[in-house]
Amino acid sequence: MNQHIHCIINNCHYWVNGNKCSANEILVASDEFGDNRSDAIDATMAQQLTPTSAQSCMATCCKTFVPKGSNQKTSDGITKMA
Ligand code: SF4
Repeated sequence: MNQHIHCIINNCHYWVNGNKCSANEILVASDEFGDNRSDAIDATMAQQLTPTSAQSCMATCCKTFVPKGSNQKTSDGITKMA
């Protein structure tokens, strides 16, 4: 798939000008999943995770979000594109 992920969260490590996400992969999850699982559970584990439903877009989140400048940027195991 040739995907383009657009995002307006400009304090995320992966956000770049033009409102784009530069992460190689991201994990979108339900808010409940995001609230209850550790930051270590992220896109690299996607194939092992059980799919869930959401009632609306307001009940979903990007679990790959990492605050810009944070030392958390390597804790999710995602490789940032050069
Ligand atoms: S990782 Fe998520 S929050 Fe961060 S820029 Fe990409 S889509 Fe946005």
